[in-house]
Amino acid sequence: MFSLKRRGLFAGAAVGALTAPYWMAQTAFAQAATRPQTEHDMPPQIHGFKFGSFQVVVIQDGIGVSDNPSQTFGTNQKPEDVAALLQKNFLPTEKFANGYHPVLIDTGKDVVIFDTGFGEQGRAKGSGKLLAGLKLAGYAPEDVTLVVLTHLHGDHIGGLMEQGKPAFPKARYMTGRKEYAFWTDAKRMGTPAENGHKAVLANVKPLEDKFTFIEDEGGAVTDGIKAIPAFGHTPGHMIFRVESDSKAMILTADTSNHYVLSLQRPEWEVRFDMDKSMATATRKKVFDMIAAEKLPFIGYHMPFPSVGYVEKLDEGYRFVPKSYQFDI
Ligand SMILES: [Zn+2]
Repeated sequence: MFSLKRRGLFAGAAVGALTAPYWMAQTAFAQAATRPQTEHDMPPQIHGFKFGSFQVVVIQDGIGVSDNPSQTFGTNQKPEDVAALLQKNFLPTEKFANGYHPVLIDTGKDVVIFDTGFGEQGRAKGSGKLLAGLKLAGYAPEDVTLVVLTHLHGDHIGGLMEQGKPAFPKARYMTGRKEYAFWTDAKRMGTPAENGHKAVLANVKPLEDKFTFIEDEGGAVTDGIKAIPAFGHTPGHMIFRVESDSKAMILTADTSNHYVLSLQRPEWEVRFDMDKSMATATRKKVFDMIAAEKLPFIGYHMPFPSVGYVEKLDEGYRFVPKSYQFDI
């Protein structure tokens, strides 16, 4: 299969900005040897762009489809109000889809991956495509020098181990100190966090001596990337400010997990937010800042390629997907 060459990934920009990786990925798709029979056979979607002197690739690990949106988003609202907002935004009311989008940033000094998708446990359901996506972008697992975990939920840590071994054999790791302490604590046994605790023991704890922990106030990750605390979704959830050549963007991780239901209505409670009022306060603070600074952001669960802006409205925010802003 045709594969994008590492370092050459953005060489197209020199010839013409519109020969960008998006189109190259489509070419790879068209040249797949076997036609996909189901969505599970589909090659991973990747989307690359240059940001300052950094190279960014968003990789779709998979998409999950769930029933009853109002049992996840707007759990403190009337189901008919949730349905009405979905309808107004041309979305179905009985089911919703949620994508999982790890991000690779090649700073020139480090090849950083933010979050790792579901890994091998997700493959039976069509997720776990991070490694295949990296390959398509021209990166080998050994190229990854730093794995940053925004938080330790299963859809972010599942890809750390592969057949009992580290999936990224040469990487060091970072996550929030508070986050790691929470999930590794045996006190989680017998609580709703028990399954998460066990997943962290299986996937994260074996790598403990390769970890650097980010303190509660955030701080430097590597040149041009710094962590900012955004607690609420989980106890130690971190977001990241990425700066290169005087451009800035934010990786918002799981601060908002639906581009309509929890951006247009940041106060609606979300089932997966562990501290619901703190998550709401954080959502408003983070997206107020992003709107005020007119920054692009990448949200792990935003619609692929997960990159966009927000316009602040009288109530909540309107998601505006990126188009060609970085290409010309
Ligand atoms: Zn998530």
